[in-house]
Formats: sequence, structure tokens, C-alpha cells
Amino acid sequence: MDDGDNGEESRKLDDFFAQFAYQKGGDPPQPSDRSLGRRPLKKARTDRSGGSGSPAKPKAEKLTVQMEEEEEEEEASAPKMPKAADKGSSVLSERDRLREKNFSIDVDSLEPLDDSAAPDNWKEIVSKLQEYRYENAATVDDFHAFLVGLQSDGVSTPHFTALVACILSVQCRDEVALRAMQTLKDRSPGGDVNVDFIYEAPLDDIEDCVRQCNFYKTKAKHIKECGRLIKERYRSQVPSDANSLKELPGVGPKIAYLVQSVSFGQQDSGIVVDTHAHRVANRLKWCNTKHAEQTRKALEGWVPVDLRIPLPLLLIGLGQNICVTRSPKCGECPISSLCPSAGKISSPS
Ligand code: SF4
Repeated sequence: MDDGDNGEESRKLDDFFAQFAYQKGGDPPQPSDRSLGRRPLKKARTDRSGGSGSPAKPKAEKLTVQMEEEEEEEEASAPKMPKAADKGSSVLSERDRLREKNFSIDVDSLEPLDDSAAPDNWKEIVSKLQEYRYENAATVDDFHAFLVGLQSDGVSTPHFTALVACILSVQCRDEVALRAMQTLKDRSPGGDVNVDFIYEAPLDDIEDCVRQCNFYKTKAKHIKECGRLIKERYRSQVPSDANSLKELPGVGPKIAYLVQSVSFGQQDSGIVVDTHAHRVANRLKWCNTKHAEQTRKALEGWVPVDLRIPLPLLLIGLGQNICVTRSPKCGECPISSLCPSAGKISSPS
């Protein structure tokens, strides 16, 4: 960084108090003036402190699953997105093309993996959700389109770029994570947020790029360590199996299955269950679970393979737009006539 020692120390104190205040319920931390401006990242001394060849286990690792479980407050305030007719940018066009593909499945032709584990009216509910989501976008659609679009965007390591975006998205609104990705892209050579770029970038500069995300210091540290491990252990290729992905810093089950299913396109990957999918599935009484991982396992007992990628998008979108944490808008809900919780929730559940 260009700042002298005193300036750097002062900025770190500013960052610390902003982050601390935010975690205590205050306003989200804002970039300090000294961190603004687009400049290329300088090269870092490669941190080989964990360089025995085995993945270092960062102290903050346990925070990953915790953050995945607790993201509802941040996501619940996500604004409703324009309808499908709004195709003002290539991202929106890609988003709508994917929505048309994902939300026009012939549900009647599908069979559950285990009939005895499937809810009685799941086909009717999924059909109505498809109709609703076909017409109504949600912020999750933009993030999904971003991940899919990386495969044809000319980036050199698209699965790694997807992994970085997914780490940033934990307990963070999709649009904020995408803005942070744009900042990283602006500062990377050729706009390519690849393994070498992260491997060589100083941690401080990665923090500067992603500071609009909450937990940005932890996330920057995880991203940096992922870059090192993937370059040194996996020859710059992100592993495609969920168990290897989950060994990476900052990667819990949700991110592992998101990268595996959307970036690698493995349709039989684990189902992506975030706090929205977890909440909606429980309100529908499709399961009675405390944690997203339990919900994932319950859904995987019956959800047909063809629905493993679309179903989370349906549930998450409904959770972002209508079935919000506090006071869900049951009067506007397309499945209220089928939902056992309709009109019965007025406080956080
Ligand atoms: S009816 Fe209400 S509780 Fe049920 S899914 Fe819709 S918004 Fe959620």
C-alpha cells in the first residue's frame, strides 16, 4: 500500500471499528477514502506460512458454516428485482435466458427419488413456483447468471473466479458480492480474477477490493489462502468434488455444492440450501429441521435429480421476494393455498 505506517495503522483502526460496529448492529462499514480509486494490485510476497503442502486450517474456518447459517438478516432486505421483461443489460438477458430454462420444467414427468419421503403436493407447489419465478426475478438470479456466464466470459480460471464470488456472497446481499467482484475485476490484469492474480495480490489490497462485503477481512483471508492452495496443491485447477472443495478455507457445504452444481454443471451435486431455502422448506412443512444441512439431506431424500439446480432457485427467490424472515407476504404468495404456514407467521421463525 502507498500509505505510510501511521496512515496504514490509522486506516486499519478505522476498518476495525467500522467492522466491529457493523457486527454489533450498526451501519455497514464503508470504504475509507484512502482505499478508494482503481489501481492495479501490486505483487505480494507469497505467504507460505502454511506451506507444508497440507491445507492450513484458519482459525476462522468454523465461521464459514456459521455465516452460511446466519445470513438471513442480510438477504431478507434484498430488493425485488425487475420482471423478466427488463432486459437492459447482457447480464439481465443471460439471467432471463437461464430463468426460462430453469423454470419451465415439466414437473408432471418427474418422479421423486423416494415416493414415501416426498410431500404429497410437491408437484403442484413446484409448478406454481415455476409460474411465479418465470415472471418474477430475484437477486439470486443475477448471481446465478454471473456464475454461469463465467464459463463463456473468457476468464482463464472460471471455476476459481466462481469460488471467489461464492465466498464473498456468504451472509452478503448478492448485488453487494457482485459489486465487490467488479472491483476485483477492475484491478486485475485484463479483468481476469484468476488464480495467479489472487496468489500474487497482497492481502491488504484484496481487503480493499472486497471491503463493501461484511466479514471482508475474513473473506479476503480465505480468498487469498484458496488462491495459494489451489495453485500449489491443485496446479491452479479448482477441485470439482465436494469433499475437496469443503477442505478449502471459507468453503462450507452451501458454497461447495454451489460451485459443483452451477460452475461445474454437475446436476447430481448436493442441493444448495441457504437460509432462504431452509426457511421456505420448513414453512411448507417439507421438513422440520434446525439447520440448512439437515434440510439439504431431507430434500435430497426425494427431490428428482432434474430439480436439484432449479429447486433452490425457486425457493431462494420466493424467500427473497415474498417469504421473508419477518412477516412473510402470504397475501401475495403464489402458493398460499398450498402452504400450511400461510397467515400463521408474524414473528421471526
Ligand atoms: S404462504 Fe406465507 S409462509 Fe407460506 S410460503 Fe408463502 S409467504 Fe411463505
